[in-house]
Amino acid sequence: MNKVAFFDTKPYDKIYFDELKSKYGIEIEYFESKLSPRTAVMAKGSRGVVAFVNDDISKETISVLKENGIEIIALRCAGYNNVDLNAAKDNIPVVRVPEYSPHAISEHAMALLLTLVRKTHKAYIRTRDYNFSLNGFVGFDLYGKTVGVVGTGKIGMTFVEMCRGMGMNVIAYDPKPSQGYLEYVPLEELFARSDVISLHCPLTSETYHLINNYSIKMMKDKVIILNTSRGALIDTEALIEGIRSGKIGGAGLDVYEEESEFFYEDLSESILQDDILSRLIMMPNVLVTSHQAFLTHEALERIAEITLGNLKSCFDGEKLENEIVIKKKSPVK
Ligand code: NAD
Repeated sequence: MNKVAFFDTKPYDKIYFDELKSKYGIEIEYFESKLSPRTAVMAKGSRGVVAFVNDDISKETISVLKENGIEIIALRCAGYNNVDLNAAKDNIPVVRVPEYSPHAISEHAMALLLTLVRKTHKAYIRTRDYNFSLNGFVGFDLYGKTVGVVGTGKIGMTFVEMCRGMGMNVIAYDPKPSQGYLEYVPLEELFARSDVISLHCPLTSETYHLINNYSIKMMKDKVIILNTSRGALIDTEALIEGIRSGKIGGAGLDVYEEESEFFYEDLSESILQDDILSRLIMMPNVLVTSHQAFLTHEALERIAEITLGNLKSCFDGEKLENEIVIKKKSPVK
């Protein structure tokens, strides 16, 4: 059996990986801790590690893993902005799950949008209290509104199709436009014309704080901003200022730039040690979810299948189809 160390384990991870591990001849040691320079040594005795979005796969972590004989880092996610690819290069191959269910993510983005626009999260709480008043619940039709999609890869294009199905006008920005009809516009124009902006691009040095004071100024009044991609695409302080001033009409956020300490943990008994996140959560037109857009049965099944397949290919000495290869510039944290 090829043993791997699995970091940042949650109960739902175990269900899906345990179901399939014997098919791939893999033994899994689960750790609840996140992978970091301090915890990396726990992988000793394993051939590979399995890591997730908020694990710290820095140069230091990679060096400890290498010292302990780790042959592969398998990300059980698509994004890889938390990996120092320059440090991994020529050292340890890093593989990922490039696609598991673009529908899971785009449907979550749509859920955030519909909830914000029709205030169903508040209606749910009100009617549970037998309060059937509609005051304060006036929403608006999405039909006929303009949505600007930033990044039209697998997830962005799925979101585009959903918006079209709802009768929205779709405009997009992507440095590599896709084939087929879609109105691509410069980013500034997308900011200026969109009633809803949805982010579906990776976090890179170019996209870091793409939404900032300057870009918010270009936007329409009452714009709705959705981020199901990576937290640091948005300068959160600028977002808060935009919401506070009334410029931004709502924000649906599945990710937050400082999420790694908080998301996926039950902190309901503690005082949240992040004033910016506290402020966001308390704003009536902000909906924060805890990086859960991927969390569907179909996605978890595919993530387990592809991750275990990636590991087996490595242990069998086969070509790594899903290896992350550095191009010119690597993503930043
Ligand atoms: P993808 O690689 O298929 O598409 C990304 C697209 O972004 C590409 O078309 C690319 O050309 C474009 N892009 C690159 N740089 C850009 C820029 N500067 N401006 C605009 N567009 C740019 O990736 P995907 O599978 O569609 O995933 C998109 C992102 O979604 C991932 O990077 C990841 O961060 C995020 N994600 C989030 C979750 C979640 O649970 N919230 C789950 C999976 C993925």
